Amino acid sequence: MDNLNATWLTSGRTETRELLIGQTVALSPENAPQAGDDTRGGVLIADGKIEMVGHGPGMRKQFPDATVTDYGNRLILPGFVDAHVHYPQTAIIASWGKRLIDWLNTYTFPEEMRFGDPECAAEVAARFFDLSLSHGTTTVASYCTIHPESVEAFFAEAARRGVAAVAGKTCMDRNAPDGLRDTVASAYDDSRSLLEKWHGKERLGYAITPRFSPTSSREQLEALGALWADYPDCVMQTHLSEQPDEIAWVAELFPEARDYLDTYEMTGLLGYGGIYGHAIHLTDRERARLAEVDAALAHCPTSNTFIGSGLFDMEYFLHVQEKRVGLGTDTGGGSSFSMLRTMAAAYEIAQLRGLALHPRELLWLATEGSARALRLGDRIGRIAPGFDADLVVLDLASTPAIAQASARAEDIWQAVFPTIMMGDDRVVAEVYVAGRAVSQGAQT
Ligand SMILES: [Zn+2]
Repeated sequence: MDNLNATWLTSGRTETRELLIGQTVALSPENAPQAGDDTRGGVLIADGKIEMVGHGPGMRKQFPDATVTDYGNRLILPGFVDAHVHYPQTAIIASWGKRLIDWLNTYTFPEEMRFGDPECAAEVAARFFDLSLSHGTTTVASYCTIHPESVEAFFAEAARRGVAAVAGKTCMDRNAPDGLRDTVASAYDDSRSLLEKWHGKERLGYAITPRFSPTSSREQLEALGALWADYPDCVMQTHLSEQPDEIAWVAELFPEARDYLDTYEMTGLLGYGGIYGHAIHLTDRERARLAEVDAALAHCPTSNTFIGSGLFDMEYFLHVQEKRVGLGTDTGGGSSFSMLRTMAAAYEIAQLRGLALHPRELLWLATEGSARALRLGDRIGRIAPGFDADLVVLDLASTPAIAQASARAEDIWQAVFPTIMMGDDRVVAEVYVAGRAVSQGAQT
């Protein structure tokens, strides 16, 4: 029986199955642990993919030739998926004292100017992936800068590490300083050629990326809308309704629009595959339209508190509407590279609106929820047969404070919640990218 033999030949090479054993949680029915004395789960990896999920000790007997890594009581989860990040802002994380528009002018734009230099872009891209992977994040959707070099550097680094990643050239043709503006034509041409070069290559996907309506003319938005119509399998990422001052500015710039979302709708930039970052201060029409077209939202809670933006309505988008909402760190407007810290902030924001998100929901948002938002929900974000073996293994007792809290737990959800609320990169015991263990600090 072929499936009982741990070694087989694939295109002339001998491949070995690897079996990971540890705690697993039932994020979906396929990976529920089974009954028995030792109820820990098993994840069988072959050729970069998850081949089988089940009862760990039982699978150890079933696949005696598999290489076994026993993680004890550590928790095996899908790798975290960051649905909204700005890798060029890696170095300006935790900069003090500004709200959105001042933040962009004071910190973001001067930093982004540097990314026309391929060496600078490559160095920051490498540092960014070091930081993300060390926090257990295996996929990100990143904004780059207006410079094609910034996109090249990001995708080259992602390809080198074998990660699934989404990114695009950030387009801005107005309300940005000299040296940080493109044009209608160059935004379209650069985006198109980058898209044609990188989209679908290895594990990479291109995102058509207007920064947001204040920094794009209507003509530029229309050009990018036309590009999206030509490549409808790409995602489109942008920002929406982050702060009241921004919304008032959009109303001045686009007097013909019914609301902020309409600036995207009337230019061909609203639809399935659109990922709208923040989406905090929405009108009823905007909320209904987003749901109607099955658009995705990227909730960026550490950014929303750090820049003082407001409280995202998770109840509406997670419970009332279909679940097409993910979590983003929004680095560097967000204050952490950690999706654990991001989940904790999502919990806190929901609490301020009267909703206590269950640990299961928080983990779902940071894995399958974000993956679905990026239209990668059939490949990553779950531990299930056929999915890519992007995994993170968490130590649920990584610090004395967390250990003493989780020691009192009566079930896995109580055990994991202190790690969600208080964990950082010390939690991460191992990360797997396409079945390959990325030992901490050794991924380069
Ligand atoms: Zn952002």
